[in-house]
Amino acid sequence: MQMFLDGEWVDRPAKIDVKNPFDGSVIDTVPKASKADVERAITGAVRGAEIMRRLPGHERYKILHRASELMQAQLEDLGRTISSEEGKILGEGMFEASRSKETIELSAEEAKRIMGEVLPLDGAPGGADRFGFTLRVPCGVVAAITPFNFPLNLVCHKVGPALAAGNSVIIKPASDTPLSALKLVKILLEAGLPPEAIACITGSGGEVGDTLCADARIRKISFTGSREIGEHICRVAGLKKVTMELGSNSPLIVMPDANLDKVADATVATGFSNAGQVCISAQRVVVMEPVYHEFLERLTPRVKALKTGNQLDSATKMGPMIRESDAVRVTQWIDEAVSGGAKLLTGGQRSGTLVEPAVVADVNPAMKISCDELFGPAVAIQKAKTIDDAIAVANDTRYGLSAAIFTENLNWALKFARHVDSGNIHVNWGPQWRADLMPYGGLKDSGMGKEGPRYAVKEMTETKMVVIHGVS
Ligand code: NAP
Repeated sequence: MQMFLDGEWVDRPAKIDVKNPFDGSVIDTVPKASKADVERAITGAVRGAEIMRRLPGHERYKILHRASELMQAQLEDLGRTISSEEGKILGEGMFEASRSKETIELSAEEAKRIMGEVLPLDGAPGGADRFGFTLRVPCGVVAAITPFNFPLNLVCHKVGPALAAGNSVIIKPASDTPLSALKLVKILLEAGLPPEAIACITGSGGEVGDTLCADARIRKISFTGSREIGEHICRVAGLKKVTMELGSNSPLIVMPDANLDKVADATVATGFSNAGQVCISAQRVVVMEPVYHEFLERLTPRVKALKTGNQLDSATKMGPMIRESDAVRVTQWIDEAVSGGAKLLTGGQRSGTLVEPAVVADVNPAMKISCDELFGPAVAIQKAKTIDDAIAVANDTRYGLSAAIFTENLNWALKFARHVDSGNIHVNWGPQWRADLMPYGGLKDSGMGKEGPRYAVKEMTETKMVVIHGVS
């Protein structure tokens, strides 16, 4: 496919191969953008921002609503594209496509709800003859930098709100998975979006990222990706608004009163989907001592039953990891835990990008598999004695994106919700659950700012205070 900038589709002789992570076959190529391409994309987007800020809310609604209808009609193709370039099983690819459509529809609705407020200026001495209100205005040009693991929905979570709020937007998709983002651009153009309002530049983040992020014409950066790159972008960005959606090593606490079959099902569902490559995957499972062994007995056969293979084959329950180097890293972290005294109960073998889903028990918190973000198909199980121990373990991390507890005890559940430092808290399901309308974002090193169209629109607009003097 070609990339889209300054209102037109553009090709370049230098290419990036987009590969199917299962077998390395090349699905397509995209141009490798240069810094000059980024400059041109920004110049075009500045014009686009002028056009967008003049477009009324009902027009922005119509474009996004039409785009969601077109997405619905192309769901099968979008789902297959996601699975082919990213490696998640087809069912997960289809689910992401349908969530993406929903995210664009939610964004469309927000285009009609961009409101300020009236301020009671008579509450201030000398304010009685004045009338004050706020206006919310678009930021201008938004840079949307996205990771590989949800190549369409996470793009929609930035593009939808940016356009709903009346901005132009430049997408920099992950180099491994640019195809679904480019298909979204086609759909938006077909839905009537002014061409200058959107750009999608396909190039290495390491090579062109600084040119994009440092440019003063970009007013807002919305980034989803790793903590390391997020921190780098914050340094480069200078005086800009930023939203950072970063990583985590999410805990799941199992109290002694939990229904262990339900916990085991939830651990499989929230620890191994997309081969564990989800920012809120269950990674650290902390089990109360009295039910520790029984829980392992329920969990292990369920994980063993996950058949790995070609993600496009309907019998496959877990597909490959995105790159072989990540698969190697995951097996190294498992080996490191085992040589430190942990027990590998199932999985952990690697063939290319496929890693057999693993249960690693008797883990201690200093092991990499517990204290770093694993982002792969393994869960690290450890024991705790009390709710306070469990909360301390849950908080013993630089991250704070999602945390879960299984219990029927309301006091334990509320204590957990109050004292665990995490942007999302789940009671009686694993940490990996998200409705696209929720305010979603992390605490601590998991980032700052919220997504979910209503909340992202807020972050992609600015507030002006207007005071009219001499009004009696
Ligand atoms: P990544 O390596 O940080 O890459 C994310 C994006 O940043 C890619 O588009 C990448 O481009 C780009 N990039 C790289 N260097 C850059 C630079 N110097 N300036 C600007 N952009 C640059 O992350 P990933 O491996 O794709 O995704 C996995 C990470 O994302 C995990 O840590 C996961 O937890 C996190 N994540 C967080 C959330 C959330 O909502 N909190 C959701 C999903 C994923 P290239 O691909 O060209 O390098």
